[in-house]
Amino acid sequence: MTATTAELVGCRAVSVVHRNGEAGVSALLNVDFQIRAGERVALFGPSGSGKTTLLHVLGGLIIPEHGEVTWRGRPLSTLDARARARERSRGIALVFQGANLLPTLTAYENVVFAANAAAAGARSGDERGPAELLELVGLAAKFEALPGELSGGEAQRVAIARALAQQPSLLLCDEPTGQLDSETGRRVLDLVDALQHDFGFAQVTATHDADVACRFDRAVALEDGRIVDDAWLQ
Ligand code: ADP
Ligand code: MG
Repeated sequence: MTATTAELVGCRAVSVVHRNGEAGVSALLNVDFQIRAGERVALFGPSGSGKTTLLHVLGGLIIPEHGEVTWRGRPLSTLDARARARERSRGIALVFQGANLLPTLTAYENVVFAANAAAAGARSGDERGPAELLELVGLAAKFEALPGELSGGEAQRVAIARALAQQPSLLLCDEPTGQLDSETGRRVLDLVDALQHDFGFAQVTATHDADVACRFDRAVALEDGRIVDDAWLQ
């Protein structure tokens, strides 16, 4: 396999301006960034540096006006909205800041919902079922719990199970430990690493916490919407 075919997502000269009424806020400036299969990357920077915006660009939730985003070498601009949604539902999963679960569905139903959405794309036949995914993240006893009845760490683990239901090749996590105490946060990150070992997805995790960033193989530093450093840590 060549490096090009192993590239999952690429951004070239990407700039994003968030419109806020008349005003525009420049969130990303001329960003070049590639993720290859199986990589473990931290997106590191202070609040407001553009981490969430870049994750949303990588996940196809924001289509930049300037620059090009490619998925497996295909420019996103050549896919219509439906094709984009289909590709995303089976290839790229996003764990949002705060678990962002559907509040009226149980933990189990939240995972089923994602699994059904992914099934609208092609099924591989060897996907793990919602119950098995919840067991994998240690929540066998919480199938029937509503999000409001879960602790922050438990909700985050449901969000991870839900993301895995998409059988992602790329897992994007936005500040997954931001609302957790450090011990619970460490356990959630350990869990994602263990799952990566089994499932083989690449992970990109946004964080403002240097201790979290240091756990990754590569750290990409953002400042005011620009990449100011891109380094291998180990
Ligand atoms: P981070 O995740 O690193 O905190 P963001 O990507 O959320 O950074 O934000 C980057 C910049 O874009 C910040 O200046 C932020 O205020 C601005 N921004 C983000 N989302 C919006 C939005 N929906 N409307 C206007 N400005 C936004
Ligand atoms: Mg953010």
